[in-house]
Amino acid sequence: MTQRTEDAFRADIVEVGRRMYARGYVASNDGNISIRLDDDSILTTPKSVSKGFMTPDIMVVVDLNGKKIRGPRDASSELLMHLEVYRNRPDVRAVVHAHPPIATGFAVAGIPLDRAVLAEVVTTLGSIPIAEYGTPSTPELPAAVRKYIKAHDGLLLANHGALTVAGDVFAAYYKMETIEHFAKISLVARQLGREHLLSREEVLRLQELRGNYGIKAPAPICADGSAAAPEEDPASCQIVQAPSSSGARLIPSDPADLDGEIRLSYRELTALIEDAVKALLGGQHG
Ligand SMILES: [Zn+2]
Repeated sequence: MTQRTEDAFRADIVEVGRRMYARGYVASNDGNISIRLDDDSILTTPKSVSKGFMTPDIMVVVDLNGKKIRGPRDASSELLMHLEVYRNRPDVRAVVHAHPPIATGFAVAGIPLDRAVLAEVVTTLGSIPIAEYGTPSTPELPAAVRKYIKAHDGLLLANHGALTVAGDVFAAYYKMETIEHFAKISLVARQLGREHLLSREEVLRLQELRGNYGIKAPAPICADGSAAAPEEDPASCQIVQAPSSSGARLIPSDPADLDGEIRLSYRELTALIEDAVKALLGGQHG
């Protein structure tokens, strides 16, 4: 990889901000982006600026404690969350935070994006858990992020938004795109009333592909995520909801709703019709 200069990193942040704004992942002055320049300094977006209209000269350089080194403005109040990531993940070189509306809707509803539905997502991000709610700009939010960031490259933040991390800022941004796209597809499938999950066997096969294709994941998929699996620790592995199957690779999310049909015996059906007729006649006479 070629050595990028600070000027190039500033231009990268401007470009990622433009894309986030253009795709509606942020409104007003929401969101923030940062890049690790070296062991001691972080380049980041300033507070109170639309991510769609930034210029390279407005960025701020801070140390790993958040103290400003140089720059015309102050860093975003959500910088604490970024610093927490860099402290816990030496492999991470960039952090992107936004409020993409569909993914944030899941974060508001308290529904994590952790079902094994799309092979691509299982292979790259694994699961996208929800970090517990913390008041923005307070130490509560970094504490909530700390619990999940060791094992995940993408998180939902309860009643707030989403956070993605990677080895460079465009990779972190693309993970944000993947999360929002996954959220959209999950929403549509749930509106249609049916969601087929990948079986646990298939998920483990996909996990092997990670190794074959050299996909870097911060942690493996948990060995048993078929149920809620409370014994699994989100700091050590990625909890993916994927039921075990005997041979089938796709399984309905609700086995009772196998193909949307209700099956009754002839006797049950006759009894139901008799009850309905009685109710109808009773209504007429009463
Ligand atoms: Zn935010």
